[in-house]
Parts: sequence; C-alpha cells; structure tokens
Amino acid sequence: MKADIHPKYYPNARVICSCGATWITGSTVPEIRTDVCSTCHPFYTGEQRIVDTAGQVERFMKRLERRQSESARRELEAQIRREAEEAARKARARGGNADAAAAEVYAKYAQATQN
Ligand SMILES: [Zn+2]
Repeated sequence: MKADIHPKYYPNARVICSCGATWITGSTVPEIRTDVCSTCHPFYTGEQRIVDTAGQVERFMKRLERRQSESARRELEAQIRREAEEAARKARARGGNADAAAAEVYAKYAQATQN
C-alpha cells in the first residue's frame, strides 16, 4: 500500500438502518446510517409495501383529500345555485316573488349544512 494516500479504514464500522437493523462492516467511515437495508427493503421481504421515508405518499394523499373535498363543496354550491334558479323561475311563472323563492332554497341548505 502506498503511504499517505489511503483514508483511515474502520474494520468494525457499524451500519444502522432506520428499521432498527444493525451490523458490522469495513468502511472508511466509523458509522453508516441508512434508510433501507436487506432486512426491510420490499425486494427482500417480498411485501408489497412502499418505502416512504420522505412521507411523500402521505403528502400526496392529503393533497388528494383536500382537492376532493374542495370539488365536492364546489359541486354542492353549483347544485344549490341551480335549485335556487329553478325555484326563482317557477315563482316568476306563478307571478310570485322570485328572490324570496331563491332565498328559501339557500336557507334550506344553510340549515342542512349546520346540522
Ligand atoms: Zn432496514
């Protein structure tokens, strides 16, 4: 071995995985921390599981949930608006108060969403 060009070698370097598994190996660093190893990686465990160390799946699911509730709310608002317009049209046809009929529809939904 040529002198003064090789890094320090640790024959008892410890590998520590985020799953808790640990073992000894040879390395130029005394300690190695890793996210996945052969004990927990799906390839070795045979499990159909996503290794999600950065929480990306969780973030995606949250985003999806938010978007879905948002679109559901928009849909409900559109439905209420349609119903109110329909009620106003019918009231107008009867010669009644269109605004009052529309307000009645809004009031009905306001009460329903409070309960
Ligand atoms: Zn592991």
